[in-house]
Amino acid sequence: MRILITGGAGFIGSALVHYLLAHTNAQVLNVDKITYAGRYFSVNGPAACERYRLVQQDIIDTAAISALFTEFQPDYLIHLAAESHVDNSILAPNSFIETNIVGTYSMLEACLHYWRSLPAAKKQQFRFHHVSTDEVYGDLAEHDPAAAEGSFYRPSSPYSASKAASDHLVRAWHRTYGLPVVMTLCSNNYGPYQYPEKLIPLMIHNALSGQPLPVYGNGLQIRDWIYVDDHVRGLYQIITSGVTGETYHFGGNNQQKNLDVVDAICRLLDELHPQCKPASGSYADLIQFVSDRPGHDYRYAMDTAKVARELGWQPLESFETGLRKTVNWYLQNMQWFNTLQEKGQTH
Ligand code: NAD
Repeated sequence: MRILITGGAGFIGSALVHYLLAHTNAQVLNVDKITYAGRYFSVNGPAACERYRLVQQDIIDTAAISALFTEFQPDYLIHLAAESHVDNSILAPNSFIETNIVGTYSMLEACLHYWRSLPAAKKQQFRFHHVSTDEVYGDLAEHDPAAAEGSFYRPSSPYSASKAASDHLVRAWHRTYGLPVVMTLCSNNYGPYQYPEKLIPLMIHNALSGQPLPVYGNGLQIRDWIYVDDHVRGLYQIITSGVTGETYHFGGNNQQKNLDVVDAICRLLDELHPQCKPASGSYADLIQFVSDRPGHDYRYAMDTAKVARELGWQPLESFETGLRKTVNWYLQNMQWFNTLQEKGQTH
């Protein structure tokens, strides 16, 4: 099996690369621009594996991507490359439009050209798997049912709008040109190697360096959290067993208020790493409420009944066990934060 991955040096992509090399015999080609959010050293282990290759390449260059398709002859594509941080999309939307929309268009064009050239059996098996987000649905009120596949798209931020646009392009290339696509939308991921601009690694990073823990608004926004390894196990199941043209949801069935997540991290750090606690007694004393993010969505929640029913997928990690694992990983890999810092890659 030959799998081309875009964005495989990012947070979820690197977990996927690790998963594929550990649990399958797949040959993996990772195509990544290596932006501030992509790191060679997140996939250092795989770099030593002969089934893995990383090519530094912007997906927006259709000709270069086409050449990689022709050379690598993938059986499947898993497209994760994206600009992914909402705050950055508010400050500077341009790269979100370029990578998430134009870049996805470029992937679709290169992929369609390649797919049309395939012999019948390989053509039949091939899939373009597009990885997207619950944020395309916009926010839910407290008692609204979770978003199901087919819910209306109501994106709020430039990030979610650009992901929504890319989802529409992918569906259009399926409907109009017959490109075999499959799409997954997932809730908030957490785990190792996540860039410390996102809530959980940011809080751990700041707590360990004695900096304030900034919480937007009143901190009562609700997100559904999934451990990244549950997500990547699902991504692999989709390329092997998902139905072409279908969309599937992944989520952790675990809705938490942001403030509760920060409190839980502080309690774990108090227990596992008491030596850097502030003199006042707990890492929680570093929490500072800051002005809310413009257009901040209140709540996301994903209905994952379809993927459970049709593919038997369930998240295996509880939030308690997953968060403990995650905090432990950052504590044991503090040099990872330090390496980002040396490269000027933390905020
Ligand atoms: P990330 O920001 O950690 O990684 C993105 C990767 O894409 C980086 O390695 C970056 O170098 C690469 N990239 C960016 N622009 C590129 C370009 N023009 N060409 C080639 N590579 C480029 O993101 P992530 O959190 O790992 O998210 C991966 C995907 O999953 C994204 O499509 C995101 O929308 C989606 N997603 C993320 C979450 C989450 O909670 N993190 C949830 C649902 C869906």
